Amino acid sequence: MKNYHLSPSQFREEGKKIIDWIADYYEHIEKYPVLSQVKPGEIKNKLPENPPQKGESFDAMMRDLDEIIMPGITHWQSPNFYAYFPSNTSFPSILGDLVSSGLGVQGMIWATSPAATELETRVLDWLAEMMDMPEKFKSNSTGGGVIQDTASTSALTAVIAARERATKFESNKTGVRQKLVAYVSSQTHSSLEKAIKMAGIGSENLRVIDVDEQFAMQPELLEKQIQKDRTEGFQPFFVCATIGTTSSNAIDPVRQIGEICQKENCWMHVDAAMAGTAMLCPEFRHFKDGVELADSYCFNPHKWMFTNFDCDVFWVANRNELIHTFSILPEYLKNKATESGAVFDYRDWHVQLGRRFRSLKLWFVIRHYGIEGLQFHIRKHVEMAQNFAGWVKESNDFELVLDPPLNLVCFRHKSNDEFNMKLMNAVNETGKAFFTHTKLNGQVVLRMSIGQTHTEEKHVKDTWDLIQNSAISLEKA
Ligand code: PLP
Repeated sequence: MKNYHLSPSQFREEGKKIIDWIADYYEHIEKYPVLSQVKPGEIKNKLPENPPQKGESFDAMMRDLDEIIMPGITHWQSPNFYAYFPSNTSFPSILGDLVSSGLGVQGMIWATSPAATELETRVLDWLAEMMDMPEKFKSNSTGGGVIQDTASTSALTAVIAARERATKFESNKTGVRQKLVAYVSSQTHSSLEKAIKMAGIGSENLRVIDVDEQFAMQPELLEKQIQKDRTEGFQPFFVCATIGTTSSNAIDPVRQIGEICQKENCWMHVDAAMAGTAMLCPEFRHFKDGVELADSYCFNPHKWMFTNFDCDVFWVANRNELIHTFSILPEYLKNKATESGAVFDYRDWHVQLGRRFRSLKLWFVIRHYGIEGLQFHIRKHVEMAQNFAGWVKESNDFELVLDPPLNLVCFRHKSNDEFNMKLMNAVNETGKAFFTHTKLNGQVVLRMSIGQTHTEEKHVKDTWDLIQNSAISLEKA
């Protein structure tokens, strides 16, 4: 019978070639410019305007992958990628993700693949234990964990659940929401502002609390603002504390914020998107002091824990509040397991219905590295960042803007903002490394975010030499 499918034996053959292609890519990744050098429209213009009428060969596709697509790739997995934040991966994770694609499971409810749900529950409980998280985040307690696509989605989920709790699950009644106010710091990730907008709270009901000289939220200002809002008839309902802000890795005082939240009956969400992975190591756990006061907490294994995008771990202290907020049971999804109440249906824990089998890649990563392997690599990244900070301190031309708590170094050339931007662009244009900037206290700051899987000391050292030499060339020009 005619069909157009690839047979299992053809899949085996092409699949092996693609595994080889990926392995070759990693072996030769340093030959590519880290930051893609193409101009806007360059890739699109090389692609045919119309789709093929007849199917094409894998050889043709792979040729175009090399010739058309690869020049438009910014190599996030390069050991010389220091921009934004890490989005690292690893071979066990890639293989876990491949198995997930191969199984093609849609794990929206327990019944649609019990293993997809139960592995997720188990692995997130493992992680809670590996990071010494509060017992209440575990599935055998009042809470539990669920994998979301991103920290942005976790923020939205937390804000919506908090809104429902604050309004006794009646937020749809006219006017109830207009009184709700939420609190972030001036350094909180923009996804929180977006969540507040999307959850119908309104940007005008978002209060931005000032930070101290370490860029951490000032709890006394939070308390003052809450009191002011109460006197003006508002209902404070949500606060986000961050462990590792995006710009500078600042650590908010979680305990103090949590105590205010308890007193004021506000939901505390903790966003530890990048820095959360460091909680694998006991010596960094003081950064999460007070986390037992949190209502929800998220971190992204897809940033720093060697797990392919996308994978965000979201823990809540009270799963019933989440389920009460997100549960809808249409007739076509009714089944015995759900009715028995003995299972988790994760579609009740977030916005979307359908869900990928993402716990497989996490399971592969944790089992491959073990706690010991993960700790080893995280410590190495932190050590490399601390060494880089030391070189900056010793230099006559550069200054450290902050002592880095973990793996992000904020520094600048001692000249002006314009020079720093020129320097960054000059380094990035060489293609040998890629790093980015931010602004702190209105001043341009360069950021070295060290967390890619294959980054070694020699890469960091070569990049520091490149930065220094580029500065000298620019000064002479
Ligand atoms: N929160 C923090 C502190 C971040 O650094 C980031 C990413 O930059 C995010 C949230 C958003 O992460 P995601 O892309 O997973 O939504």
